[in-house]
Amino acid sequence: MLKVEHVTKYYGDFLAVDDLSFTVKKGEIFGLLGVNGAGKTTTFRMIMGLLEPTKGTITLDGKPIDYTVTDTIGFLTEERSLLTKMTVKEQCLFYGNLKGMSDKEIEERLDALLEKFGITAYKDKKIKELSKGNQQKIQFITAILNRPRLLILDEPFSGLDPFNVELFKAEILEMSKAGSIIIFSSHRMEHVELFCKKLAIIMQGKPVLEGYLSDIKEQYRKKNILIKGDIASTDLEKIKGVLSVENTAEEMIVKIDDIAVAPAVFKVVSKHKNITKFAVEEPSLNEIFVAKVGESYEK
Ligand code: ATP
Repeated sequence: MLKVEHVTKYYGDFLAVDDLSFTVKKGEIFGLLGVNGAGKTTTFRMIMGLLEPTKGTITLDGKPIDYTVTDTIGFLTEERSLLTKMTVKEQCLFYGNLKGMSDKEIEERLDALLEKFGITAYKDKKIKELSKGNQQKIQFITAILNRPRLLILDEPFSGLDPFNVELFKAEILEMSKAGSIIIFSSHRMEHVELFCKKLAIIMQGKPVLEGYLSDIKEQYRKKNILIKGDIASTDLEKIKGVLSVENTAEEMIVKIDDIAVAPAVFKVVSKHKNITKFAVEEPSLNEIFVAKVGESYEK
């Protein structure tokens, strides 16, 4: 289990991470989210043992993260860290050896991964000759070469086309099934929502929301009601607790400030004919993120 306990980081007088705590169990995928400059990279660097927290502790299976365990950690950082003059194979041998793998183990694993990602032909090509998306794949392969028990993925899908996003997702899910602890960061909430059962949203280094996605959605009282049929927006806008009514090509989206408002909306809708849909839905993670970030700016 990865345990981040009351971690604080100052850069000089500047407080970048403020009393952050969370745990991630074996096989869990945890989402660490936040606006630009919220403190995600700083947190990742502390987890990887590259930065010392000013206060607090970080442990992996009860032990501090230092050079004795870094062999079992993999990371894909936002900054690309490829040795671009080397070939794909040379780079993987270099990093794999650093992580204590033998040349034979590295080549076997590399061949299997190159095949999975459809880039076997690039094995002996220099990294700088590869396209951006293929360089991203090599960076990912390098990160997972040693089947890390802790894998940190910062914006892993940047520069990838939708087909390759699916390939990456499948591999990440496979690693989580095999027991890896995975920490995932992305500004694309739809990716986070698909992947992470548990997450934290940080703002100026401070957690503003933390827990299981299902609980977060449940506790977030605002809901959306989707309606199809002959009904005018103005009939619904009058109802107390209705925040907005939006008409899309397909249906009407009524935003309510509390689930308790739904029966009042239903009462009005039921008086109309030709209603073919009335569904109360959880808001998307994107909506919750924007609302939470907005609230903490107002504080
Ligand atoms: P992004 O989403 O833009 O990558 P982030 O959440 O990863 O942002 P961090 O890079 O962790 O944010 O930065 C958190 C804060 O700490 C920012 O205000 C940043 O300017 C500051 N910061 C980061 N590194 C340093 C440093 N070495 N010295 C001083 N301040 C720093």
